Amino acid sequence: MPRETRIESDGVRRIVPLGPCPWLPGWEMVYDHAAARDPHAMIRKGEGAATVYAITCPHHATHTVVPTLNAERDVRRQGRGAWCADCATT
Ligand SMILES: [Zn+2]
Repeated sequence: MPRETRIESDGVRRIVPLGPCPWLPGWEMVYDHAAARDPHAMIRKGEGAATVYAITCPHHATHTVVPTLNAERDVRRQGRGAWCADCATT
């Protein structure tokens, strides 16, 4: 089922978040892959032009800001240590 989208204050259409990120107050879940084989989630905060996206580790509650929602692919290709400092050391 396609995700619901909305046009934000800067005129850009974005995916409506699923709700608050359970482990990072102030962030909203965009894609929840916490139960996936390579557990992660994409989160955001802010709205419109001020939107910030990040990838977060469900195990360690760390997050790394990424330039766009789709930048997830490049970051994850480099391994978990590229985006979660705690995964890098365990
Ligand atoms: Zn981690």
